[in-house]
Amino acid sequence: MASKSPKRNLKMEPWQDPKAKPYIRLENVSKEFDGVVAMSNLSLSIYQGEFFSILGGSGCGKTTLLRMLAGFEAPTSGKIFIDGMDMSHIPPYERPVNMMFQSYALFPHMTVEQNVAFGLKQEKLSRKEIKERLENGLELVQMSGYKKRMPHQLSGGQRQRVALARSLVKQPKLLLLDEPLASLDKKLKERTQLELVTIQERVGITFIMVSHDQEESMTMSTRLGVMEEGQIRQVGTPHEIYEFPNSRFVADFIGSINLFEGIVVEDTPDSTLVQSEDLSHVLRVSHSATVPPGAQVTVGVRPEKIKISRTPILAKEDLAENMAQGIVHDIEYLGDVSIYHVDLRNGKRILATMPNLVRLTEQPVTWDDKVYLYWQSENGIILTT
Ligand code: ATP
Repeated sequence: MASKSPKRNLKMEPWQDPKAKPYIRLENVSKEFDGVVAMSNLSLSIYQGEFFSILGGSGCGKTTLLRMLAGFEAPTSGKIFIDGMDMSHIPPYERPVNMMFQSYALFPHMTVEQNVAFGLKQEKLSRKEIKERLENGLELVQMSGYKKRMPHQLSGGQRQRVALARSLVKQPKLLLLDEPLASLDKKLKERTQLELVTIQERVGITFIMVSHDQEESMTMSTRLGVMEEGQIRQVGTPHEIYEFPNSRFVADFIGSINLFEGIVVEDTPDSTLVQSEDLSHVLRVSHSATVPPGAQVTVGVRPEKIKISRTPILAKEDLAENMAQGIVHDIEYLGDVSIYHVDLRNGKRILATMPNLVRLTEQPVTWDDKVYLYWQSENGIILTT
């Protein structure tokens, strides 16, 4: 993962505090559309001030979840609470919620200031109040100098910021963002991600963002929920989700990972040995598998945790654990790192990432080289589901 993570100022992680009350609570929420199950028995707690991302593949139910929070769809069963209040009979316009859609949907015939003030006029606020909120909103997203511009005279990033100001001036307690940065190019996206987090921290509003871009979710969120087929498979901080995935699905969905199928041959409280047909050497993982010997498990190892070398890394290679030998089939040069695709004799392919620490005209390890791969037992993770 190459993106920078913004420094977060949450004084305490409320989800760690058993006394903290969630701001949003979904209790066994299910949603069916004409027999299609879009969400199945989903329970989730989100705390005030969080930047929570819902991450998942196409059709897994992310937008349905947002639309139910906003009140555009009603759950088929289960309950949604916002700030302790049951939302079952609360229409969208009475919820303390604003939704920012994928397409910014700025009115093309209105200037920036008319766009931002539109919702406030509808609320019939006083002129003074509208002016104040408009000035503050535009300043927050650094668009004060663009009041008289029309949407077509703005860049994609600027339009996105105007749309954000338009949502924020309504002073919602909860802002729902549906793929807000989807149409921005990579550089602008990265800059806008950091801006969005800074603004969110400054206004202190709870944000829930839907995305299928894992890097974006990892960079911006306090926590994220990984969804599959209408269910949340894991909720955690970006670090927890990446380093301690709870299933093959989550491990595979977030970042890339090498997966080795095997059988547990020994399990102690702080170490597990796994024999895999994929590898000639045994795998050691520095945590318990919590399943009996003989059980089928998968061991996951992230590519950046694997060392690659043309010479044996350990003196006594035949005693080694967590190692493999293969031939470099391909190299992906990404500038900051290179990803090596190494084929073992049995055809299994392993990915290993190496940082390009010095500038070289040639790769230190190159195509068709015979290489040794090695990783430490702390870097393996046992997945039982
Ligand atoms: P994407 O990333 O592609 O936008 P998503 O995760 O947001 O996907 P949803 O839009 O929530 O997915 O859809 C979840 C499931 O519910 C899909 O199978 C979809 O076809 C179905 N669905 C959503 N809305 C409706 C509807 N109004 N009528 C019928 N089926 C629907």
